[in-house]
Amino acid sequence: MPSAYAPPIRTDRRLIDEALAGARNRSFWIDDSPIPALDPLRNDLTADLAIVGGGYVGLWTALLAKERRPDRAVVLLEGRTAGWAASGRNGGFMESSLTHGDSNGALHFPDDLESLAELARENFEEIAATLTRYGIDAEYERTGMLQIATEEYQVADIREQAENEGEEFLDRQAIRKKVASPLYEAGVHLRSGIAMVHPMKLVAGLRRVCLELGVQIFEHSPVRSLSKDGDGVALRVGDRTVRARRVALATNAFPALLKRAELLTIPVYDYVLMSEPLSAEQRASIGWQERYGIADSSRQFHYYRLSADDRILFGGYDAVYHRGGRVSAKFDSRQETFEKLADHFYRTFPQLEGTRFTHAWGGAIDMSARLTAHTASAWGGRVAFSNGYTGLGVGATRFGAATMLDLLDGADTARTRLKMARTLPTPIPPEPIAYPAIQAARAAVARADENGGRDGALLKTMGLFGIGFDT
Ligand SMILES: Cc1cc2nc3c(=O)[nH]c(=O)nc-3n(C[C@H](O)[C@H](O)[C@H](O)COP(=O)(O)OP(=O)(O)OC[C@H]3O[C@@H](n4cnc5c(N)ncnc54)[C@H](O)[C@@H]3O)c2cc1C
Repeated sequence: MPSAYAPPIRTDRRLIDEALAGARNRSFWIDDSPIPALDPLRNDLTADLAIVGGGYVGLWTALLAKERRPDRAVVLLEGRTAGWAASGRNGGFMESSLTHGDSNGALHFPDDLESLAELARENFEEIAATLTRYGIDAEYERTGMLQIATEEYQVADIREQAENEGEEFLDRQAIRKKVASPLYEAGVHLRSGIAMVHPMKLVAGLRRVCLELGVQIFEHSPVRSLSKDGDGVALRVGDRTVRARRVALATNAFPALLKRAELLTIPVYDYVLMSEPLSAEQRASIGWQERYGIADSSRQFHYYRLSADDRILFGGYDAVYHRGGRVSAKFDSRQETFEKLADHFYRTFPQLEGTRFTHAWGGAIDMSARLTAHTASAWGGRVAFSNGYTGLGVGATRFGAATMLDLLDGADTARTRLKMARTLPTPIPPEPIAYPAIQAARAAVARADENGGRDGALLKTMGLFGIGFDT
């Protein structure tokens, strides 16, 4: 039997065209919570710590650096505006996992599992405490998440997750009573370590607090290059120079400023739709009374959640690597994927046929071969970088930021002792090898979903080399 979301598109084409006709090609979150841009760098500067990048990694690094040592002079340089990239475009699923799930953690870091679990819990709690401490309203809701089986072969895994987490296993009837989808075979409500946030309100709050703590933030100030400068580093920003004792690179999927970080990640595009607000009748027709996020369990999985005004954000499935491996505005929109997602939305909730989408957008994720982040230092401890979040960075980025600061301060901590801070993932071959290799891996993942979740020869071989590919 074909899988629940098997191609081709099944929804009437006219319906899909109408539903997408008015969709703006930009992040709903940024539209909903715009923040005024800050001035660019106009003078040469010196600092104790310079941070490159104003997404979650950069902002958390700045905030933690000031909390640890308020007298430290911290400068943050952002090429455009804080949160314009992944941090202002994501699904807002904040998960405590630092390893992109337990099984990925067990695969790559078997000796660190206990320590990782403890550090993950601590990081997740510290995020909530920081929001409270500074009055950051990021629409933080500790809802947990429904993990769904849409295929028979996934039911056993859901049962096992329920047992491991001490949660109730919801069979087909029970899960459909909670959320009315004809595709659901089973589910479990994972309650601990998962919250929903408004991604851009989180950016706005972190940026405000950084400024209040005395961080100097310059926007529209792209750093062109780094060079060694005495015991520190010189950063070129147009015809200006920032001289800093230490540098933290928080540049995500954008071109690496350090040779050593160049082949460790590739930009993979993820796409999302946002519906118009549901009416009370529409909400009632699908159940979904509690406000948990939902994700299905295929390798090409969907994730969906409610906004504060009862829209549905519906994303995932396709993970697209564009030839050449660059981040570019032209990839922010992909009609083929938007149509596929609209079709999958209506397959999931046929009761919502006719609901339109107000926003449709994409963004780059920095995928690493370990499918999770690495943090490392270079140039004798003067520079640190933290990348490779692979689509699960809303919570884990705070941890990467803390690890970068440990490394730059020369501190020996539970974080710096982890394998993810002592070793780097397998490099990904550059173009022209990358494109055909990644297309082959994508096709293999799609085949696995149609084949009862079983990996074919290619995915098994990649697994032997510690290389992963998933959406
Ligand atoms: C569509 C989508 C959905 C996602 N959904 C989720 C989710 O639900 N849950 C989850 O946990 N994760 C999710 N993610 C991933 C998550 O958003 C990222 O892991 C996280 O935002 C990464 O933060 P960052 O600071 O590393 O990167 P970014 O937010 O990309 O920030 C990097 C910044 O660096 C700046 N920069 C780069 N180079 C330079 C330079 N040379 N000079 C100056 N500035 C520079 C850029 O302008 C950019 O602002 C999603 C991502 C996408 C795209």
